[in-house]
Amino acid sequence: MLSALVMIGLVAGWSCRAPQAGGAKSIVVTYSVLGSIVKELVDDQAAVAVTVPNGVDPHEYQPSVKDIEAINRADLVIENGLGLESGMARALAEARRGGVRVFTATDHISVRRVGAGEGVSGGPDQATGAADPHFWTDPLAIEAVVHALVPELQESLGIDLSQQAADLGYRLDRLNYETSKTVATVPLNDRKLVTGHESMGYFADRFGFKLVGVIVPGLSPQAEVSPADLAVLQKVIEDNQVKAIFTELGTSPALAKAIGDATGVRVVELTTHALPADGSYFTFMTNLAQVICGPLRASP
Ligand SMILES: [Zn+2]
Repeated sequence: MLSALVMIGLVAGWSCRAPQAGGAKSIVVTYSVLGSIVKELVDDQAAVAVTVPNGVDPHEYQPSVKDIEAINRADLVIENGLGLESGMARALAEARRGGVRVFTATDHISVRRVGAGEGVSGGPDQATGAADPHFWTDPLAIEAVVHALVPELQESLGIDLSQQAADLGYRLDRLNYETSKTVATVPLNDRKLVTGHESMGYFADRFGFKLVGVIVPGLSPQAEVSPADLAVLQKVIEDNQVKAIFTELGTSPALAKAIGDATGVRVVELTTHALPADGSYFTFMTNLAQVICGPLRASP
């Protein structure tokens, strides 16, 4: 009996340690869009897991016990930073204290700050000057992160992905060029964005759009909206002759519909925080550009 238990223990112990013993390293990425790029880069050189399920709002996600275990066991954790994963902040801080290596993607980009008047509001704009975490809408910011990951992966996992990063960088340059071509079909005067929350700043900066308003003022879709905010937004939409209002994950559909009805402007659903069915960042960006540019280039 005792020897049977010892055997079970040995087998169980062996199977737990097997991945490390076999050399398979584990990377945990906090959310799906960044996870997709890490998977493209790493391929089969390490096991890549994503914490926030695709389609769930990363601003709001609270990690499960299993998520926290995976984070604490990982050879490397890759987070977005700048408060995107605010619900995971405590778990990530504890993992860091416990010696887990955490790479913060936004440490390696040129951080954008919310400009005055972007988060349209009747009162003082809380978001003005805040660091914007939504860097993934700019393919060249993603490319900067890919290059920064090379020395990190070398150091923490002992794998050299410099060639893969160069190839991926080339594809991201190409994606940036293709996105510029899609955007070029929209007249300059119509490149105005009204979105669910303050999520398209990097895209706007990269591709020459003006952010004229957001339905929910701030960097997270969950902030409060006052009737005064909505009245200001309605006026901004009318004054700028905005052609479409883009709603996102977390935007209240009733609120979006009310603004659309009040202004007579088309409401279009835009996917800014989740991957398409094929799981590809490249498809994500291509779709994003097409969904934005289609309604904006249309005649009124
Ligand atoms: Zn967001």
